Amino acid sequence: MDYLPIFLRLRARTALVVGGGQVAARKADWLLKAGARVTVVAPQLVAELAIRAAGAELAHVAAPFASAQLAGAALVVAASDDREVNAAVAQSAHALEIPVNVVDSPELSSFIFPAIIDRSPVVVAVSSAGSSPVLARQVRAQIEASLPARLGALARFLGRRRAAVKRALAPGARRAFWERLISGRTAAAVLSGNESAAARSFASELRSAGGSAGEVWLIGAGPGDPDLLTLRALQLLQQADVILYDRLVPDAILERARRDAERVFVGKEAGGEQAQQARINELMVSLARAGKRVARLKGGDGYVFGRGGEELEALAAAGIPWRVVPGITAALGAAAGADIPLTHRRLAHSVTLVSGHAALDDSLDWRALARPRQTVVFYMGVAQLPRIVARLRAAGASADLPAAIVERATLPAQRVLRAPLASLATLAAREQVAAPALLIVGEVTALAPGIAAAAGSGDPELSRAQRPAVGAVA
Ligand code: SAH
Repeated sequence: MDYLPIFLRLRARTALVVGGGQVAARKADWLLKAGARVTVVAPQLVAELAIRAAGAELAHVAAPFASAQLAGAALVVAASDDREVNAAVAQSAHALEIPVNVVDSPELSSFIFPAIIDRSPVVVAVSSAGSSPVLARQVRAQIEASLPARLGALARFLGRRRAAVKRALAPGARRAFWERLISGRTAAAVLSGNESAAARSFASELRSAGGSAGEVWLIGAGPGDPDLLTLRALQLLQQADVILYDRLVPDAILERARRDAERVFVGKEAGGEQAQQARINELMVSLARAGKRVARLKGGDGYVFGRGGEELEALAAAGIPWRVVPGITAALGAAAGADIPLTHRRLAHSVTLVSGHAALDDSLDWRALARPRQTVVFYMGVAQLPRIVARLRAAGASADLPAAIVERATLPAQRVLRAPLASLATLAAREQVAAPALLIVGEVTALAPGIAAAAGSGDPELSRAQRPAVGAVA
């Protein structure tokens, strides 16, 4: 781009036009349309300009150009038929850093006039950067032909209704509403000049859109500590009409939501997981269709063993708009809460997040999980603990491979139990470990400050570290 197209506000500012001929008259007209106070400097004026001067639409200085006339001007046009005068105007304007256009001399100009289509407030400007004004005018003609004559009226009609739409519709629903409106019968009525029909149709479209303006926010609530919510999660919880939450979301997090939001527990119920998921999907869709802003609050992150993908499929199928807000997944919460770095330059070059349920079938490559120099984090593994350990051992993991269980990570009652793989299940049974808990397997679990020696001793009792809260020192 040789020039930046911008739209300049000239209302009540002074624009100087040097020259009193036809070309000057055309430029003066555009400047007047933009609301500028126009002063024309020329010994003589053509009829159009003379009439405007007589009607006080513009000021006339009947004198040769002098640079003092530039004082206070926001913009200058040199449109005289005398090259030397135009050059002098350009020079003075440049010296004062006032934008100047010299008609037919882009090299002397700091701005150029585009070819303009004026359907105010819609304005289209076309430029060829001075290389072919005729081509630019042809492009303008083509665009002009394709634009409805009442385009400006339509823009004004819509502009007057922006505030109402903002009040009635949630941010996520507005754009689709405007798009429907502009291609629908309301716009057609304005363009055909029937504004009262348009106003009625607009009102009814807004009413029915208001009814379907609901949306669903799939929000990761993090591992439990309310301070580990993201800022966005917090903002949306403050706006939600309804909150659908899981078992993993503690009261301390629900307390951060809007006071009068309806709270609906959608955790475990009778009827099996599939049926339960179907009920949640239906609930989200029906609430959103009723115009509600629904916060679907899930422990950790919705896309890590959170069935977020399935819920979004249901929303997409129902045409409900959604947003996804990531959360801190339990593995990251547990890592921070128990001082277990999940990767380590020496000890672990990868982290794998695994579902403990997978210990029940053959969906996992246990030999890959049993290899050294990695960290494996099992979610939902409490009930399967003996089986997980057995499968890892059978796949080649050594009996003394360090491991840890992090129970209620980041919550006030967080517990961290460390033991070599072979004695982990016994320890967990004795300590009555309960969900939610993560099993973390790998050398990094023996690293936490102050416990490394104990973990290496093979005595599960010694390796247990109990921590009251995140960040507290064991
Ligand atoms: N979407 C969640 C995981 C849901 S699956 C996330 O990203 O964290 C449920 C499992 O997550 C639990 O069985 C447990 O293994 C783990 N989990 C969730 N919160 C936990 C917590 N505070 N402490 C330990 N494990 C947790």
